[in-house]
Amino acid sequence: MRVLLVEDSLQLVPLLIKGLAQGGLAADSVGTIGDARLAIAAVKYAVVVLDLGLPDEDGLTLLREMRRKGDATPVLVLTARDGVTDRVTGLREGADDYLAKPFAMEELVARLQALLRRPGNLLGRKLTFGNVALDTEGRQVFVGDMPHSFPARETAVLEIFLRRGGNVAPKRLFEDHLFGLSGEVASNAVEVYVHRLRKMLGDAGATVKIHTVRGVGYLMAEEKS
Ligand code: CA
Repeated sequence: MRVLLVEDSLQLVPLLIKGLAQGGLAADSVGTIGDARLAIAAVKYAVVVLDLGLPDEDGLTLLREMRRKGDATPVLVLTARDGVTDRVTGLREGADDYLAKPFAMEELVARLQALLRRPGNLLGRKLTFGNVALDTEGRQVFVGDMPHSFPARETAVLEIFLRRGGNVAPKRLFEDHLFGLSGEVASNAVEVYVHRLRKMLGDAGATVKIHTVRGVGYLMAEEKS
């Protein structure tokens, strides 16, 4: 598990390398986008920690390039720019996570470990499970070859299931996501949206089924027919 650290701060780099090593992550560090390009071309990194303010080019340029080439290596953007607009831009350009400076080393390590736990094939722009697929950019749902337009929240719930790839999804995961979308969610909101999604998938002829795991959350499983 090698981490590529793209960061030009001479004070921060040694601290980061040490902190990552304590978290069991070996890091290579580069201070420019030019060097980052060379490193990425030479080594298959498990995750990239990307500063945005770099001496030669903007970090987002590299992120955009990687995604355009279909490189789905998880990228955590680490930057002093903490405005909502910058955060949204970073995520839209394909960042998997975002951490504003100053930050706690423990949090960075925890977030990187969370990114590394995600199966690599689930990080692309199109997520699939059974005969269900989601284009995460166009927010279009497919069941078999048929496109469907599900409402935003049901689509968000589906995305969580697809990213879990057949593993149990804790209820809290959905709550965090739904709260993020509106800020105001009733206590039974997760049940409501999961119930609606279950019906929509059933009506569309999906080969997957959502099971309730009592006291824990939900599980999407493929139906064997
Ligand atoms: Ca910088």
